[in-house]
Amino acid sequence: MPSRYSFAELMKRVFRIDALECAKCGSERRWIAAITSGETIAKILDHLEFPSVMTQPALS
Ligand SMILES: [Zn+2]
Repeated sequence: MPSRYSFAELMKRVFRIDALECAKCGSERRWIAAITSGETIAKILDHLEFPSVMTQPALS
């Protein structure tokens, strides 16, 4: 067992999903960048019309 796993290997082991497989065509995605700026991430998510703000879970 390797002592270090890649992010994709960990996703596959824990969630049983292939993070590098394209959901549309099934081909392998390529890693092109790691974005660490919260402001940049929010801009990208907003542009893609994905939620960029954490919401509080509803109390039951
Ligand atoms: Zn594809």
